[in-house]
Amino acid sequence: MTKSIPKKDSSGTQETNIFANALKRLDEAAQFADIPPEALERLKHPKKMIQVSIPIRMDNGGLRIFQGYRVRHDHTRGPGKGGIRFHPNVNLDEVKALALWMTCKCAVMGLPFGGAKGGITVNPKELSRMELERLSRAYIARIAEFIGPKTDIPAPDVYTNPMIMGWMMMEYSKIAQEQSPAVITGKPIPLGGSLGREDATGRGGYYCIKELEEKKRWKPSKIRVAIQGFGNVGQNIARLLHADGYKIVAVSDSQGGIYKEEGFDIPSLIQNKNATRRLKAIYCTGSVCETIQVKSLSNKDLLELDVDILIPAALENQITEKNASKIKASNILELANGPITTEADKILNKKGVLVVPDILANGGGVTVSYFEWVQNNQGYYWSEEEVHAKLHTFMIREFNNVYHLMTNRKINMRTAAYVHALNRIGEAVEARGTSKYFLGNP
Ligand code: NAD
Repeated sequence: MTKSIPKKDSSGTQETNIFANALKRLDEAAQFADIPPEALERLKHPKKMIQVSIPIRMDNGGLRIFQGYRVRHDHTRGPGKGGIRFHPNVNLDEVKALALWMTCKCAVMGLPFGGAKGGITVNPKELSRMELERLSRAYIARIAEFIGPKTDIPAPDVYTNPMIMGWMMMEYSKIAQEQSPAVITGKPIPLGGSLGREDATGRGGYYCIKELEEKKRWKPSKIRVAIQGFGNVGQNIARLLHADGYKIVAVSDSQGGIYKEEGFDIPSLIQNKNATRRLKAIYCTGSVCETIQVKSLSNKDLLELDVDILIPAALENQITEKNASKIKASNILELANGPITTEADKILNKKGVLVVPDILANGGGVTVSYFEWVQNNQGYYWSEEEVHAKLHTFMIREFNNVYHLMTNRKINMRTAAYVHALNRIGEAVEARGTSKYFLGNP
């Protein structure tokens, strides 16, 4: 854990623009959606936001004060749902955008949730395990009144994991003075986590690719894939695609990437990355690994590779107006949240690139989080096969709903996903009564 985390996105504008960009996408989609203007206006204003200062006693005896956030964007369709991110770039604007995307994602996936998100401005790689636990618990103590199994249910996001979710659930349970596994998802299995949650986001993206494979009659061994980000999401989609014969020719992490024309042996890369925390071109037979000769490349180069499928699975704002015209991939599966800016979208659309948007492509994570919440509430747990089967049903149902909207309305797939989300949110708002109803014109 010696490497630093980059402070800014390549465009350097993330902190000021990300929520405004998220709103632009809503407006674009609203032209095609069945949503009352009042309901659209509501979505432009997060329902509740909290910012907390978290003083932490560090291992060296000194005191550091961290900033934490939680935003509940909307709860029209159910309690807020959304992850907690630990990253040095976390700021209120980013958390608001991520929370809005969660509202849309839960609606696209047909889940009975609104959207929320949280985070702490911190580089967790600089903290010891004990400091990390103190910070995670103290954050929950500060926001305990804001969250709850029926109000706002957090989950993991970038640089948070099941162990952190477990600490947070225990801290909340202590404050609530009752066992509250349903307050947070993505927990370790023995603490009420769901089987199948660990790989759910990558797996959901994989099911989207399988649908495209059928529609486009792809032969996996001929399809070249590049993946940016080799954490939970990047590794899992790489593993599943590789097992089906897809050629994963490039992968990267925050330190840079590697490229191999014939495709990597993904299980070997994962084994080494998890043992050493480093991405290294390697081939393993059992526990014996040997380094192989490959080209190294930067994250920027990886995005511009001539591949069939590009999978951004790291952070937002990776494809911007600066590099969009250089993208050669004909298909992009957005597993990261917000990896393509609105300006870049326009350029990619003109080039005819098919973008499977984040609010659909990475919806597998929140879907299995929903399954975890359901299991916690009913106290009855499902097998991994059941979870995979239910996830498959949700993913292909919503992928095809969005795909058909795209083809029927002649709009791009991102707009179609937003239209699908806005239609569902609009229905829920209408059901509560809008001015149309109150003015006697139901
Ligand atoms: P993670 O922390 O497990 O992995 C993140 C990976 O990205 C790491 O390999 C890191 O080295 C790499 N990375 C960081 N900065 C990078 C950079 N500038 N260039 C290239 N790589 C970089 O996180 P994760 O859970 O895999 O999440 C990845 C993305 O997927 C995030 O955008 C997250 O919001 C999104 N997402 C995750 C889930 C989930 O269930 N984990 C669900 C939905 C969306």
